[in-house]
Amino acid sequence: MKMPSEGKQYVTILGATGSVGINTLDVIGRHPDQYELYALTANSNWELLADQCCTFTPEFAVLINKECAPQLEDRLLQAGSKTKVLTGKDNLCSVAAHEDVDVVMAAIVGGAGLEPTLSSAGAGKKLLLANKESLVMSGSLFMQAVERAGTTLLPIDSEHNAIFQSLANGAPGHADGVRKILLTGSGGPLLGKPIEALSEVTPDEACAHPNWKMGRKISVDSASMMNKGLELIEACWLFSVKPNDIEIVIHPQSIVHSMVEYVDGSVVAQMGNPDMRIPIAHGLAWPGRIDSGVKGLEFTGLGDMNFEPVNLERYPCLALCQEVAWQPQSAAIALNAANEVAVQHFLDELIPFTDIPILIENVLEQTSREEAHTIESILALDEEARHRAMEFIRAR
Ligand code: NAD
Ligand code: MG
Repeated sequence: MKMPSEGKQYVTILGATGSVGINTLDVIGRHPDQYELYALTANSNWELLADQCCTFTPEFAVLINKECAPQLEDRLLQAGSKTKVLTGKDNLCSVAAHEDVDVVMAAIVGGAGLEPTLSSAGAGKKLLLANKESLVMSGSLFMQAVERAGTTLLPIDSEHNAIFQSLANGAPGHADGVRKILLTGSGGPLLGKPIEALSEVTPDEACAHPNWKMGRKISVDSASMMNKGLELIEACWLFSVKPNDIEIVIHPQSIVHSMVEYVDGSVVAQMGNPDMRIPIAHGLAWPGRIDSGVKGLEFTGLGDMNFEPVNLERYPCLALCQEVAWQPQSAAIALNAANEVAVQHFLDELIPFTDIPILIENVLEQTSREEAHTIESILALDEEARHRAMEFIRAR
């Protein structure tokens, strides 16, 4: 069994082939003296996973799509790589929780990330959380697992990372003296589009984010501001605050990544170029600092910075999240599941952009409000909501 060299952190990246995964490897690649890879995981992109294994020599590569595993094995064999290939969800959970692992980057997209992320949370790792959907779905169960295992939970979502830093690097939950949190969002690529034209938006238009390069699901969520709504729920859990402690502000330039206002009137903000390597490097090195590869801000060339209130008529998905944030867990599970189904169908050009909130609202109307304290109940509610979402689409 390979062990990390003296003084190095042993890292697992869940979702290594995605946007956050690639950025994480970029940062790690700058610090070979500090980090070594235990496992890299992917859904089906075996070609990129093979390249990553050759460069970063992890002990394990986990591929969810079993059919692609022989191709990955062949490619690694040809390249003389010693990385062992595993498949299936159980292996995803075990590389996320293995005793040798120090750090886990949770960067799978959507509810598929829930079980491995939760495994890692329950195993007391240093957990870098990008997969916001897992926290939205399992809120109290997740935070209890973190508490029980003494897990160091570091938010990687840029806004939450900014809030964490603005709380003077305080552990989430230690929000004493805080008057409110200002959660900023760019408004996405459709901010200036007439509301009547939103039904005609194409997947490529919705994914053309002005400031961030991200996976397609989160890009659509940014266009609908569902992303900001999920982030509102995420922030409530991470920082032990209520939805009305959080003000959402449109900041189209994405320079201020969020702020904390204290009772004395001080406002502390975290700023930086919009590049995920900044929060990733912060999480990896915390409580220290390492170079992320991102240049500093050139303030004299920045131009204007604007801050505006949100028009909820333009962003009905955000309005739904603001209601759900107050409700029992089943509502957040249904909202997340219905959104995932709706976004996939929008990306496949099967429903218009404006059907996304209609579908979610319909599924929420059929969802009873109840808490969910076990993984089994969460997964059952998730499946039920996906089923309802599919029924809605079929009937449309
Ligand atoms: P992405 O689509 O680029 O990558 C997703 C990764 O998850 C890939 O490695 C893919 O192989 C893996 N994956 C997908 N389906 C899977 C499944 N069923 N089982 C196992 N693995 C699976 O996504 P992304 O943009 O990197 O986002 C990842 C997560 O990070 C999301 O939860 C997103 O909300 C969050 N996040 C992303 C950004 C960003 O800049 N991209 C910023 C903040 C938060
Ligand atoms: Mg974010």
